[in-house]
Amino acid sequence: MHKIRLSKCSISSVEKESVARVLDSEYLGMGVETQKFELEVARYLGVEADNFISVNTGTSALHLALSAIDIKEGDEVLVPSLTYVASFQAISACGAIPIACEVNPDTLFIDTLDARKKVTEKTKAIMPVHYASSAIGMNEVYQLASENNLRVIEDAAQAFGCLSDGYKVGKRGDIVCFSFDGIKNITCGEGGGVVAFDGNIISKIKDMRLLGVKKDTEQRYAGARSWDFDVELQGYRYHMSNINAAIGLAQLSRIEEFKINRQRIVKKYLESFNKIENVKVLSLDYSNIISHIFVILTEDRDELRNYLLEKNIEVGIHYKPNHLLSKFSSKYSLPNTESLYEKILTLPIHNDLTDEEQTYIIDSVYEFYK
Ligand SMILES: *Cc1c(COP(=O)(O)O)cnc(C)c1O
Repeated sequence: MHKIRLSKCSISSVEKESVARVLDSEYLGMGVETQKFELEVARYLGVEADNFISVNTGTSALHLALSAIDIKEGDEVLVPSLTYVASFQAISACGAIPIACEVNPDTLFIDTLDARKKVTEKTKAIMPVHYASSAIGMNEVYQLASENNLRVIEDAAQAFGCLSDGYKVGKRGDIVCFSFDGIKNITCGEGGGVVAFDGNIISKIKDMRLLGVKKDTEQRYAGARSWDFDVELQGYRYHMSNINAAIGLAQLSRIEEFKINRQRIVKKYLESFNKIENVKVLSLDYSNIISHIFVILTEDRDELRNYLLEKNIEVGIHYKPNHLLSKFSSKYSLPNTESLYEKILTLPIHNDLTDEEQTYIIDSVYEFYK
């Protein structure tokens, strides 16, 4: 069998034509395509046009969201240890301290009982991560936040297009951040976005993404530039270009296709692994999400991993817990997270994974346990 990729984007003639149109226009930076992408995403999420702000990566979305609510030196932000290092880096970029929390062993979503114990007078926010595209447990997070006067920044990098409690992730909440990097549910090549509902926060994020230049967005969307401007805030070069927006627009037009294919793949994995005693799957609301990754839990993780790699099947480990990294090492241990880290294995899932390839993957897992 040829090498089966763990994840990848799916590029069709739609994306190619969309990008060619921007190249032909010779306006490659932020402009009308970016504006159109924002309008279409807002419409898709069911929020007002103003509530969605595009940026260049999911990591910058998180960084801007934290900055906009004034997270600063010495503040503490609760975050699950089992997440991509981007969540932690965005917090430390503000000078704040990420407080690594446990996850629920059945869903790998932040364990709010543990998070509650870690609240101090320095805690300013909680950053739940929609691990494997699932936002199961958000009610408890918002409950904890309201009891302790915390802001909530949802790291929804993996959850674009997913439903939680009957609502699209991003439709409501405090601040919700998405990623559109090369392998996420939809890609812009690289990209990200923030949903916020507070006008003050929205205008701060809009200015900060463009070096703090006040109201530069309006100028750029009109095909103009700001010459006589003021700057009040620390800003960054975090805006989205027309090229990336064009890829995103094409991908958004295909999201139903992505949903159908990813859900079909998940369904087959679930049915197949039901029959293997030693393989556990996460307890997620799979029919309402578009799974970015498919994670199994097994005591034989390393052996199975090597077996599949030898069969030319790319597998992954999402993630090495952040509290085990030098920069973010904690004085306390997280026993549940550390034990889960030994068991998690991510199997291939992407829009173009064929039925033949998936059968080969499943047969290989069966063979291993035979
Ligand atoms: C992808 C991802 C990010 C970062 O998004 P980028 O666009 O790659 O910067 C943050 N958190 C999680 C959980 C992710 O999966």
